[in-house]
Amino acid sequence: MRKISAHLILDGLGNCYRKGIVTLDPDGTILNIEDTGGNLRESAGVEFFSGMLVPGFINAHCHLELSHMHNTFPEAAGFVPFLKKVVETRAGDPGTIIAAAEKADVLMNRNGIVAVGDIANGPTAFEVKKNSSIYYFTFLETLGFHPERSGKAFNWADNCLRLAESMGLRGSIVPHAPYSVSNQLFKAVAMDAIRSGLPISIHSQESMAEDDLYRSGSGEMVVHLRENLGIDTSYFTPTGGSALRSTLKLLPVENNLLLVHNLFTSQGDLDFIASVRKLSNTWFVLCPGSNLYIQNRLPDIDLFRRNRLQICLGTDSLASNHQLSILEEMKIIQHATPSITLDELIGWATIHGANTLGIADWAGSIEIGKHPGINLLTNVNLCERKLYPETRVKKIC
Ligand SMILES: [Zn+2]
Repeated sequence: MRKISAHLILDGLGNCYRKGIVTLDPDGTILNIEDTGGNLRESAGVEFFSGMLVPGFINAHCHLELSHMHNTFPEAAGFVPFLKKVVETRAGDPGTIIAAAEKADVLMNRNGIVAVGDIANGPTAFEVKKNSSIYYFTFLETLGFHPERSGKAFNWADNCLRLAESMGLRGSIVPHAPYSVSNQLFKAVAMDAIRSGLPISIHSQESMAEDDLYRSGSGEMVVHLRENLGIDTSYFTPTGGSALRSTLKLLPVENNLLLVHNLFTSQGDLDFIASVRKLSNTWFVLCPGSNLYIQNRLPDIDLFRRNRLQICLGTDSLASNHQLSILEEMKIIQHATPSITLDELIGWATIHGANTLGIADWAGSIEIGKHPGINLLTNVNLCERKLYPETRVKKIC
């Protein structure tokens, strides 16, 4: 049994304990939470930490298998040029990819991340995930903008998922993005999702180019599809609406849905989303570090707050981020949105991610019976409950 305490404990659910005591069993399960009201008596066996204790972080969006592309791309080069670079450089020696994924996994663990919603296009990183102490939910991503690719793309993802499951990994088949998935492939993914009932994810509103594609069939994305990927787009009929409005209805309303990026999302878009599905099983994943890296732009974070949406945080991959750290994502958001409280941010970084990945029975909050992992934040502004640029995270258990 271990008893730990700190100046503040934020439990992920909006509660704050001053010098509370958390009792843990040897495997990290929380046995008790004592609210001392700030009066921590001299007590034998209580480990006191200077700083703030918070639940283990949930990284709701990552691509572990792209870790070998760290520091490969220039910053702020734009979204479609980034896609082109990814296509050109994502293939690599499996040994190199695995070694980079292993290193990234270790660093995420060190950064206090206990669970990851991880996108995969193939099985290369499965062994790393299997051997990790981090819980990975793998989103097997389908890609195929031409309808003729639909069957092949779905079967590839399905075979990969079966392999993942045989290795003890959990996951689901998902569409990559509106600009890379045909209606036929969307339908195959949706049927599978309804059958499994598992969470699904899609890159959404990460660029204006995807809207140009759906609105008018023109712009950078069409050029990318034709010239960089060699896809015959002549079959495609623009819908006249945005990519979101054209494809959201193709995703099942029953499943938890992670809309990832939301960089160009407006109030009108949010109203539309609310008109076609429940917001209670819809999560908005923000990856500000990646958005800054690729497009030097951030989503309208206050818009999501005003609408009281379920927000989670993701790092995206090392191809478009300097590190895989939820703490660093929180710092970016706090800098851009000074009115935000740390209590709110910690909820995004913990319980919201756990809810969307379906792991809130053990992760996401400091609650009796859970084993969420516990992080210590040091160099924190304890009075105003704010992060400093110098704030660091240390995994306590
Ligand atoms: Zn991504």
